[in-house]
Amino acid sequence: MAQVSLRDLKKVFPGNVVAVDSVSLGIENKEFLVIVGPSGCGKSTTLRMIAGLETITEGEVWIGNKMVNDIPAKDRDIAMVFQNYALYPHMTVYENMSFALRLRKFPKSDIDQRVKEAAEILGIGKLLNRRPRELSGGQRQRVAVGRAIVRKPMVFLFDEPLSNLDAKMRVQMRTELNKLHIKLQSTMIYVTHDQTEAMTMGDRIVVMKDGVIQQVADPIALYDKPVNKFVAGFIGSPPMNFIDGKIIKKDGKLYFTEDGFKVKLVEDMYKKITPYEGKEITFGLRPEDIYDKLFVSDASQDNMVKAVVEMVEPMGAEVFLYIKTNRSSLIARVGGHDKPEVGQDMELVLDMSNAHFFDKNTEESIV
Ligand code: ATP
Repeated sequence: MAQVSLRDLKKVFPGNVVAVDSVSLGIENKEFLVIVGPSGCGKSTTLRMIAGLETITEGEVWIGNKMVNDIPAKDRDIAMVFQNYALYPHMTVYENMSFALRLRKFPKSDIDQRVKEAAEILGIGKLLNRRPRELSGGQRQRVAVGRAIVRKPMVFLFDEPLSNLDAKMRVQMRTELNKLHIKLQSTMIYVTHDQTEAMTMGDRIVVMKDGVIQQVADPIALYDKPVNKFVAGFIGSPPMNFIDGKIIKKDGKLYFTEDGFKVKLVEDMYKKITPYEGKEITFGLRPEDIYDKLFVSDASQDNMVKAVVEMVEPMGAEVFLYIKTNRSSLIARVGGHDKPEVGQDMELVLDMSNAHFFDKNTEESIV
């Protein structure tokens, strides 16, 4: 069993830089857990503490049923794949992949079998005699992963392993790593700043900011039910639209208003929003919940907003519209056939059943 448990983990660097603060997290056996967050949020430091490459200021790291705080990296039964691959340039692919096993004095036949097995899984069997400089970026990345696989570790750790690849190769390697996880049935912890990578790879995702965990959830729950404005804005591309405004009540109905903008709330949100009546609030709506009225047959004035098109970004199957209401700029994600002109007036229909509201001061999610 290879579950990993982080208990009140803290890392303070010299100069009182708190990189990781009170991180508690259980990673289940065979789980693919992604830690995501902006640059400097402490995700690499967390991973490096699990690996044993960084000392722990406070708290505990458990791997399997052992507390490993004082166990050196080489004895932790983990394998780490780095962003820069860290291959030995003077060694062949075979030598790179077998290095850790040779160091541990594995029998030659065992090494040979493990390297060939890993090379087969990764489709690099024909490259075993080449040196890293004779490989493409994607091939080097496969070798780096292969070097981890041959060790059959309890836990795989990945630190931004795809960020040196071009966009197309990144997408391909993403799929390959997903397949690899299914094949190897191992526990994997993967660090990235890329929310798309996190959403497409993780069984569960941990979102971090300023050294603190913001939310741990599966991708869909994270997308649909972010706990605060930070998570809501970080997960999703293009990002969620945020508008600051006020909640007002008229004829028993609740509305969100902002200069030149008034939309009715759906009734099942009333209970949670009523305490905010007359107060400032932040309204959030994902780009796919904004429609062009021309393509909505049953639009009601209650959830319609007038706007001007500022920019049109055709993506093929869909179009991103950058639009401006009286005061706010929004992004809408509409069908590929919808291509209004820049400067054109349009009416937007907002799907208020998917609206999010955040407390303006605490930024915590209300609904
Ligand atoms: P990135 O995506 O840019 O790698 P990250 O989320 O992985 O960022 P960390 O590398 O874990 O972030 O760094 C967290 C914080 O700790 C940052 O403020 C960073 O400047 C600081 N930090 C990291 N390593 C050290 C160090 N050796 N000494 C001092 N501060 C450090």
